[in-house]
Amino acid sequence: MRRILKIQLKTAIDFHGHLGPYLVLGLLMGEYALKKMRARPHFGLEVKVWGAKNKPKSCLIDGLQLSTGCTYGKGNIAKYGGKAIKVNFRDLKTTKELTVFLSEETLERLKSAVDHLTSEKIAMEFYKKGVRSIFLSR
Ligand SMILES: [Zn+2]
Repeated sequence: MRRILKIQLKTAIDFHGHLGPYLVLGLLMGEYALKKMRARPHFGLEVKVWGAKNKPKSCLIDGLQLSTGCTYGKGNIAKYGGKAIKVNFRDLKTTKELTVFLSEETLERLKSAVDHLTSEKIAMEFYKKGVRSIFLSR
């Protein structure tokens, strides 16, 4: 059974329309959660997202849909209001849950994503860095 969806960055950009830091964060978060929970993508989990209602933060949700296979079409991802980004993953088989937040360092770095070019640069930084130090989870 394939547990991890390996989504290429190019595929994500083709789907989403541009390269941005929140898109990358969504990709990495979903990949991290599937790996950590050993959950089955597409139908094996449910994703709830807080604090990413509007752009550019909501770009996170496209990254999450790609990396987890949980989509609006299937109804197993949902977004809610909230000040800070928080993503809850729930394994439907084991009912195990994982909640992921952005680290202080990541939030600080995101503040400098003020224009298109810097946003792309930061997105690539996150992508190269991978999950380490980007999130905190519990
Ligand atoms: Zn975007």
